[in-house]
Amino acid sequence: MSSGSESRLDICLHFSNTKDWHGSEHPVEKLQKLSDLISWSVKENIIDKPSAIAYLRASEADSNEAKAALVGARDLRESIYRIFSSFSHDRAPQENDLHFLNQNIARAFSRQELMYNQRRKEFHWGWKKQEMKTSGHNFDQILLPIVKSAADLLVSDKLHLVKECANETEGCGWLFIDSSKNHSRRWCSMRDCGNRSKVRSYYERNKQR
Ligand SMILES: [Zn+2]
Repeated sequence: MSSGSESRLDICLHFSNTKDWHGSEHPVEKLQKLSDLISWSVKENIIDKPSAIAYLRASEADSNEAKAALVGARDLRESIYRIFSSFSHDRAPQENDLHFLNQNIARAFSRQELMYNQRRKEFHWGWKKQEMKTSGHNFDQILLPIVKSAADLLVSDKLHLVKECANETEGCGWLFIDSSKNHSRRWCSMRDCGNRSKVRSYYERNKQR
């Protein structure tokens, strides 16, 4: 595993955003295959390229395991989405989502260990090395850092900055940490939903005239 030490709070939100139009009736699945999850986690620096190649081999060796891992990953993602989406709308999380996340947290924490960096003379949290084999929780090395980031973000002072894109009409569902200066960010991006909204209100204003 690459740098599992520093917790990046927004990984869980990026993970949630692997489904487009998350809040709509017709979401678009970006994780069609386990290999999609593997390449996503390389892009997010969760695993390095050699690990990714090993994972791809493992997933090809046991396609049942690969399917189960993909289903598990999607379930985790949906729980994460619902928990953060609820909170950003001032609603309590569903009990089963919190329970499911807690089960994953228990597994994640059992895999953490303190490590010492000689050069920087400091301690940090790292992940226990895991044998690469085609059984058991083989894909945990991808999922556990996501779980950890969700847990860390939920108890952090950044939680109240988590927002869901304001395009609720179409159910964009994009989650982000609003790090803008006066915390006024509303859209996933101005080019997408921000622009759509501008066009819509322009159209509606003109219709009324
Ligand atoms: Zn949006």
